Amino acid sequence: MDVRRRCQCRAARPRGPPNRRCVLKADPSRQWRLLDLQAIDTRLDQIRHAKATLPQTPALEAARRELQTLETQIVNARTAAGDVQRELTKSDQDVQLVRDRAARNQARLDAGHGSAKDLQALQHELTSLARRQAELEELELEVMERAETLTARVAELEARRAELVERVQGLETERDAALTTLDAEAATVGAGRADIVAGIGDDLAALYEKIRASSGGLAAAELRHRRCGGCRLELNNVDLDRIRKAPEDEVVRCEECRRIMIRTGESGL
Ligand SMILES: [Zn+2]
Repeated sequence: MDVRRRCQCRAARPRGPPNRRCVLKADPSRQWRLLDLQAIDTRLDQIRHAKATLPQTPALEAARRELQTLETQIVNARTAAGDVQRELTKSDQDVQLVRDRAARNQARLDAGHGSAKDLQALQHELTSLARRQAELEELELEVMERAETLTARVAELEARRAELVERVQGLETERDAALTTLDAEAATVGAGRADIVAGIGDDLAALYEKIRASSGGLAAAELRHRRCGGCRLELNNVDLDRIRKAPEDEVVRCEECRRIMIRTGESGL
């Protein structure tokens, strides 16, 4: 920045009366264009805000978090189902072993070889094998039931995941459509901005940008019915008198909020 061009009067007379402050001159047509520029910038700010606060964004974040939790649950359920499946195989083998042993004993018994004592022992073992088989089959049934429950749980979780994936995709599509619409509106709204800035001129545009940066985006507003359109405060008689007497090409500022006030036929002066 060229320091020599900087106005020093504020620094030299910080407590000086308002009318002795450094004033910018710009003919009314340039000042009026500030209102057009402000309308564009306000709308662009609103569009930026709308883009940053799309309702789909938190919904998407929540759905993605839910999806992440579900993935973990699916991994755990699959692991548990795998464990039970191994348990079932083992249980099945145990039953089969007892069955085979019983079948062998039965065959030997049917063949009738061996002493009466041996045959009696075989018969005795067959009885205990039958009991053992019943116990093991009971156990196997219980493991089977657990396996079925876990398989159903995996299927249920996977179905929920499919729904959730669809929901995420739906929200992404909605969000993208909303962004496209807002971007298109921003392009349309902002199309004439450069020309308006050119019409306003560098000095006034720079002042406008400086105030905009420090005043929540609103830098220029109409002075309407004796009220500043920026802070909405009614001007006192001293300020009104000063503005009334100010030449029309003087850029007047609100004493309260320091925004540029544009005088129109409805200013109430
Ligand atoms: Zn004000």
